Amino acid sequence: MNFQLDEKRLALQAAIREFAQNELLPGVIERDEASQFPLEQYKKLGELGYAGLPYPVELGGAGGDYLDYAITIEEISKVDASLGIAYSIGLSAYVGSILNGTDEQIKAWTPDVIQGKCLGSFALTEPNAGSDAGGCVTTAVKKGDKYVINGLKCFNTNGPLAEHFAVYALTQPELGAKGLSCFHVDKGTPGFSIGKIENKMGIRAAQVSELIFEECEIPETALIGKEGDGFKYAMKALDGGRIGVASQALGIAEGAFEIARKYLMTREQFGKPIYKNQHLAFKMAELECEIEMAKYMVYKAALDKSEGRPYSIPASKAKMVCTNAAMHVTTEAVQMLGGNGFMREYHVERMMRDAKITQIYEGTNEIQKLIISRDLFK
Ligand SMILES: Cc1cc2nc3c(=O)[nH]c(=O)nc-3n(C[C@H](O)[C@H](O)[C@H](O)COP(=O)(O)OP(=O)(O)OC[C@H]3O[C@@H](n4cnc5c(N)ncnc54)[C@H](O)[C@@H]3O)c2cc1C
Repeated sequence: MNFQLDEKRLALQAAIREFAQNELLPGVIERDEASQFPLEQYKKLGELGYAGLPYPVELGGAGGDYLDYAITIEEISKVDASLGIAYSIGLSAYVGSILNGTDEQIKAWTPDVIQGKCLGSFALTEPNAGSDAGGCVTTAVKKGDKYVINGLKCFNTNGPLAEHFAVYALTQPELGAKGLSCFHVDKGTPGFSIGKIENKMGIRAAQVSELIFEECEIPETALIGKEGDGFKYAMKALDGGRIGVASQALGIAEGAFEIARKYLMTREQFGKPIYKNQHLAFKMAELECEIEMAKYMVYKAALDKSEGRPYSIPASKAKMVCTNAAMHVTTEAVQMLGGNGFMREYHVERMMRDAKITQIYEGTNEIQKLIISRDLFK
């Protein structure tokens, strides 16, 4: 196994790193405070060809793979984790859902998102169906050549901003999860509106909202794949999404680590830089190992997906390890910066708030343990 990134990937990494420093770092604190999404910067990423990296050129992608995608989210999230998740949800959970459709549907509803011209969104969660995603009650009832959707989706990332939505609703409610189907819904469809926009602890620049469906009619041609296969598609899309969240978490951890490393070298107390206290230097050594372990796990999961190996369990493992590392590293970074760590201008307090959500969404880490342990004892 080769642990070195090849030249092409190193060039991609350098380009996204430069983009993040020049385009994302300025204003990141203000965007967090104002809950303002960097839409212009997101579209610029698309114009530069960095949106649909793992997708075929025919769909407007770059013909790359999931490791390119993971590296890009990692570099973005070192600076702006809100953009990291918006990018990840659109390109993996939304596009991943629609890819279960026909060629015609894929060509109609994925290229704009793949090219970064607009955002995509993935609507599975409901007020009473979170970890137990099969407990959805939103329905899609067939009437003639249409489906009529009624229900409420919640915690929808990109909800207020997206143009395209992958919406999961019951076509046969009596079957529970086996009656769940996937639909494409366009922004602005009559009967579909944005509800409450959430006021969040972290990833504050990302937009997360309710989606309300009231007698929302969509053509029967908006059904993706087969009726009743929705749960399967959602779980597959989430497997890809977990590689995105793991990469986001890795980026947050690395971003906070670097700020702490520089701070330890410049801040002096008791007449010497504080890194000369063995406690702090040893703590950094431990965090460095934790980050490196997390990186190998998410890169491996990304390569497993790219090279056609099973990646569901590797994605769950990477999600759990990377997100726990992000929480640990950011918490330690705040502590190492002392009082300054608590202040907005030093970034690490935001990173600590951003890290928390990575342990919760796209399946909480308890659900990842459920998935990993079931596989151990099957
Ligand atoms: C900011 C944000 C963005 C999100 N974006 C999206 C999105 O774009 N699309 C979307 O569909 N969803 C999205 N979600 C939903 C997210 O995936 C869910 O919040 C998450 O899966 C947890 O569900 P829940 O909040 O209902 O918690 P619950 O399922 O109620 O869980 C509560 C607690 O119980 C634990 N728990 C539950 N069941 C078990 C079990 N069997 N064993 C052990 N512990 C268990 C959980 O781990 C958790 O600690 C988002 C959520 C947030 C907060």
